[in-house]
Amino acid sequence: MLDFRSDTVTQPTEAMRLAMSRAEVGDDVYGDDPTVNRLQDMAAEMLGFDAALFTASGTQANLLALMSHCERGDEYICGQEAHNYRFEGGGAAVLGSIQPQPLANQADGTIALEAISAAIKPDDIHFARTRLLSLENTIGGKVLPLDYLARAQALAFDKGLKIHLDGARLANAAVACGVDMARIAGHFDSVSLCLSKGLAAPVGSLLLGDERLINKAKRWRKMLGGGMRQAGVLAAAGILALTEQVERLEEDHANARLLAELLGDVDWLSLDINQVQTNMVFASVNEGVDIQAKARSLREQGFIISPGKQLRFVTHKDINSDGIRRFAAALKAPV
Ligand SMILES: *Cc1c(COP(=O)(O)O)cnc(C)c1O
Repeated sequence: MLDFRSDTVTQPTEAMRLAMSRAEVGDDVYGDDPTVNRLQDMAAEMLGFDAALFTASGTQANLLALMSHCERGDEYICGQEAHNYRFEGGGAAVLGSIQPQPLANQADGTIALEAISAAIKPDDIHFARTRLLSLENTIGGKVLPLDYLARAQALAFDKGLKIHLDGARLANAAVACGVDMARIAGHFDSVSLCLSKGLAAPVGSLLLGDERLINKAKRWRKMLGGGMRQAGVLAAAGILALTEQVERLEEDHANARLLAELLGDVDWLSLDINQVQTNMVFASVNEGVDIQAKARSLREQGFIISPGKQLRFVTHKDINSDGIRRFAAALKAPV
């Protein structure tokens, strides 16, 4: 089966399975797991931070960041489309007593800097304290321009805000820009990064920041039930995600472009190929098309999609260019 729903479906590589089976481990709650420590040290070094923390998921890494930057009664500014606003169960509000202040994402995924400035609340007892700006890169498969990151960083600094990056797909953004992840991460006080999406590790994310932030995050992680024991079994795959899987994301991006080109002449879909910047292709389903029936037919032919009026096809290491061509041909065929 070729699964286009997400890059989270990637299977760990053989090298990862081997490394996991042989990983040297200890109790990470005591700080004793050498493989977790190696992953954290390596990630901090690669991304240019003092410290890193291995977490169960990207959701947990973002929540720890929000709870470590903000106190009860603070707020964070984020995009209306932000994962840490829309798709994380309201965790910051539920568990952190932190209020989101969502703002519209523009067509390129950025949030207008003027809108951010205007949303920062004055120091007044009527308002929550605006404490943090949270951006996402990539967002909806789009890469935030490097000069925008520099301007957002300067704005945050001027206004006394901290700035966090939900970098679940930071590696895709870096590969698309032709820069190291550190070049992007350098604009932020903290970054979360998923090891278990295009980078193919089975489980886990990282939060990066300075020592103080990571120490706070470690306390929250324990409270939230995320203190794992012999987690080196997982971290061993995470190390290979960072060392062996980043550069090959270029293939996923090329496959997404190929798919978008091939879908140009599918008569029941509309898409804008210029929107395809990384490993995602978005298409809208034309009126009158029974997408549920299409999805069932595709599944019988070995292709999995998430049906809806808006379709998202995600490319990843377990789909090669031959699979892309076969998928495009199946989409073209009548149901
Ligand atoms: C997937 C994702 C997350 C959360 O990661 P999980 O590991 O699924 O919890 C956070 N932010 C973005 C942008 C994501 O795509």
